[in-house]
This record gives sequence, C-alpha cells and structure tokens, in this order.
Amino acid sequence: MVLGALGIVLSFIAGLVAGPVLGIGPGRQDLASPASAALAPTALPASTPGRTAVTTPSAKVSAPESDCKGVRDRRRTTAARGKPFVVCGIALINKEHRVSAAYRPKLVTVAVKASGVPDVRLQPVAATALTRLFRAAAKAGYTLVVRSSYRSYATQATWYATMDKNLTAPAGASEHQSGLAVDLAGIQAGRLVRGTALGSSRTGAWLLKHAADYGFILRYPTNQSKITGIAYEPWHFRYVGVKVAKGVNATKTKTLERYLEEG
Ligand SMILES: [Zn+2]
Repeated sequence: MVLGALGIVLSFIAGLVAGPVLGIGPGRQDLASPASAALAPTALPASTPGRTAVTTPSAKVSAPESDCKGVRDRRRTTAARGKPFVVCGIALINKEHRVSAAYRPKLVTVAVKASGVPDVRLQPVAATALTRLFRAAAKAGYTLVVRSSYRSYATQATWYATMDKNLTAPAGASEHQSGLAVDLAGIQAGRLVRGTALGSSRTGAWLLKHAADYGFILRYPTNQSKITGIAYEPWHFRYVGVKVAKGVNATKTKTLERYLEEG
C-alpha cells in the first residue's frame, strides 16, 4: 500500500515536471507555422483576454514582411520541385531555385494580340492582369503584343539549346514555365518594336512606368544579372501583383530577388 501510494505521488511529480517541458517544444514550432498558429485561439475560451493576445502574434507570423527574411529553399527532390520555391506567396524561379518538368500550373488562354506564337497562355490571375495592362496601353495610344508566354519544361529545353545563354534560362529555371511571365513587344507606326529596341522606345517607356499598376515588373533590369542570372531584358515582364510590383520597383536594384530578401 505504502509503495503503491509512493508510486502515485512520484508519477504525479513526474507529470508536473515533464508536462510543461514537453509541451513547450512543439508549441514553439507550431507558432512558426501560420496554419497551426491560427488554430491556437480555438484552445482558449472566446471571452478571455488571452484570445486577443494569442491572435495578435500569429497574425504577425503570417505577414509577408516577416516571411520574406531568411527563407531557405528546402525542396530537395525532383518531386518536391514539382512546385516552385515560394517566398511571401511569390513563386521565385531562377537558376538557384528551379522547378522540375512535373511543374504544370493551371493555365487559361488570354485573348490579347500575339506575334510569332499561336496563342497566349497564362495562369488566370496573370491573364486578367495582362488583359487590363493591354487595355490601359491601348487607351494611352500604345499597341502591345505578346511574343511568348507559358513555355513548358520541354519547350524551354529546346529554346535554351538554340538561344543566347545570357538571355535564356535553362529548362526548370525559366519563369515562363510558371505561366506568370510574358515577353512583350510594341507596334509603332505599323512596325513591330521588339527586343532591345523596345527598351528605348516610347512603348517600352510607357510599360516601365505603368506595368506595376497592373502587377507586372520588368524582371531583368539593366546591370543586375549577378542577382537575377539574366542580362537586361526590356521585354520580359513577370506578374507578381500590384503591391509586390511596387515594392520591387522601390528597391535599389529593382529585382525580385532583393525585394524578397529585404521584405
Ligand atoms: Zn521572357
């Protein structure tokens, strides 16, 4: 009887010591995840002040600003790279953060003017934004055309084999596979203005000034190839959303890479 009672007491003490210690570890890890942090308030009664106290820090955890810093690409396998490396909700695809051939986003056909390609295919959100960009350009007196949009892994491999390596990413490292990027040109006085000529044209100047209003950035600015891995491309625009586009343009280098680090 005495030994039995002692055992119960010891178990009770062990529970007091071990309980909080075991509880803290996983709890801290959970707070790093916005999904599980969001579950935390449900463990508390709705009327307690603690509910507000727990909700506030979890909202900060999920804010883009804190997610942007120090994020590591943890996709190790080809299967994992079937999805892009995402920072602050933005897919970052470059030579350091590649996607596999398995990555195929949902695409829609966009009814905008194209040249040299049979159709324009983008992710729905980028398709809507591009349509608005083209309309705004037309209203301002400029005619835009798409020279390239979505390109599959296989198509990119073919392009890379024949194109300038400073201007084309290898298969898996191209944003075109995301369906969020377009190569644009303009039509001025009935002539196609494309390539580097677009950069020094009035159409190119309009794009540079207004693309961010529709969520697009000039993805490969002048003299930033050390950061982006690609030389200046006045024709390549990437959809990132209006807020991020304006944020990227406000950085010193105007690169998506630096914006996501600086967040
Ligand atoms: Zn491009």
